[in-house]
Amino acid sequence: MTTPPAAFEPSPERRVFCNRTLNMRSIAVVGFDMDYTLVHYDVTAWEERAFAHVQQRLLAAGHPVQSIRFDAERFARGLVLDLQRGNLVKANRFGYITQAAHGMQMLAHDAQRAAYSQVWVDLAEPRWVFLNTLFSLSEACLYAQLVDLLDAGRMPGFDYGTLYELVGKTMDAAHLEGELKAEIIADPERFVALDPELPRTLLDLQQAGKQLFLATNSEWHYTQAMMQYAFDRHLPGGSWRDLFTLVIAQARKPGFFDGTAGFAEIVDEAGTERPLQGPLQAGGVYRGGNAQAVQDFFGCGGESILYVGDHVYADVHVSSQIRRWRTAMILRELEDEVRDEREFAATQVALHDHMAVKERLDHRQAVLRLALQRASAGEPLPEGVTGSTPELQEQLRLLRREIEALDAQIAPLARAAGHLGHPLWGPLMRAGNDKSRLARQIEGHADVYTSRVSNFLRLTPFGYLRAVRGSLPHDSFTEPPPSAEAAAGGS
Ligand code: IMP
Ligand code: MG
Repeated sequence: MTTPPAAFEPSPERRVFCNRTLNMRSIAVVGFDMDYTLVHYDVTAWEERAFAHVQQRLLAAGHPVQSIRFDAERFARGLVLDLQRGNLVKANRFGYITQAAHGMQMLAHDAQRAAYSQVWVDLAEPRWVFLNTLFSLSEACLYAQLVDLLDAGRMPGFDYGTLYELVGKTMDAAHLEGELKAEIIADPERFVALDPELPRTLLDLQQAGKQLFLATNSEWHYTQAMMQYAFDRHLPGGSWRDLFTLVIAQARKPGFFDGTAGFAEIVDEAGTERPLQGPLQAGGVYRGGNAQAVQDFFGCGGESILYVGDHVYADVHVSSQIRRWRTAMILRELEDEVRDEREFAATQVALHDHMAVKERLDHRQAVLRLALQRASAGEPLPEGVTGSTPELQEQLRLLRREIEALDAQIAPLARAAGHLGHPLWGPLMRAGNDKSRLARQIEGHADVYTSRVSNFLRLTPFGYLRAVRGSLPHDSFTEPPPSAEAAAGGS
């Protein structure tokens, strides 16, 4: 069977990846988050300003934070703060901790084992704070440096838990009070990473008969400024507003998805408000409100609404769990991760082959040890094993040498695999040999995930995404090798 020629095909890192089958034709309404979804920021630039505003506030409150600095490279979405120990950890899908840092220092393997061999990340416990979005990077960087100050005795009266409260409260104030946002609005070229394919993507969806809405936690004046900057120049009608049937600012997600808050109507560009009288109106701009009312307005079931956002909990987890809407998770970091993993693919095959040999040698070693145990008890040797005790000991010695040599080959490859995507924390979607906690959140709650909204352009409004067959530990013993065509990447 041959594959039809590719037309309008995305590159691998720009694909929409599917956890649960999604037929775009059955989607009648598409809702979008704004920040880091429709409007992507230069993370280093934006988060540095958020960090600096919080630093100013902490200085004004008398805290000794003159020399703290923002460093985007040391942190990553999907990691988890441990407020009990002042640590940042990476966990696998079961919550088992595979890497940790205390303050700004990575923990050595022994220290990590000592702290966490009996501890699992359970996000329901207040001890753990999941880094849900790229906005979390400045928060984590602040927390880590305050932990170092606390350890140096320079934050008297605080413990690791109350230190986080200080960070959270000050960060909230910086986001909510106008100065930070005013700086962004004044210089959008510096902060917004434009995506020229994005307006076309939304136009295609709209022209295919889908209704679009925007539900952002940002304030109206900021939303208006960002959307205008990102969209208006690329649209035939010249206004981003024409794309959306409803615009909802300050939606207060995640409460928006399960609450009953009322809407205020925003009646002019300046943001003048009045309480909503009567039903929502197509073309209207609102503040607050709730998702049930939005769904009632569109008059369709949750299975026909796709919500697209970047916040693992507030956009994706809650909208899928509570509302049963279909969900798409935006994860910009995926582009580097997929690119790196593709470049590493040949090495990954070598690593896999080495590990298969190691598994066989390990088993052989275990069998020889059992043989020696049986021999010393005067019992029959295991099937297929022969030789006197000294011969068995010699076989074991040679085998150990072979395993050591193999380990020396495996170690650098495994280390390189552990640094794909992110130099310190490795691939966001993997932890050790397993899926990461982030990957688990995404597979649990996002029907599809992709690096950016404009990847829906090549999916088209008529695309059909099928879930891939899930993998199981016994697959490698039951599955045929991939066909030559699949192995060559034909699809
Ligand atoms: P959305 O992603 O479009 O829903 O908007 C996110 C909004 O939340 C933006 O206005 C951010 O400024 C704001 N935000 C992000 N992180 C924090 C925080 O830690 N505290 C308060 N507001 C935040
Ligand atoms: Mg967002």
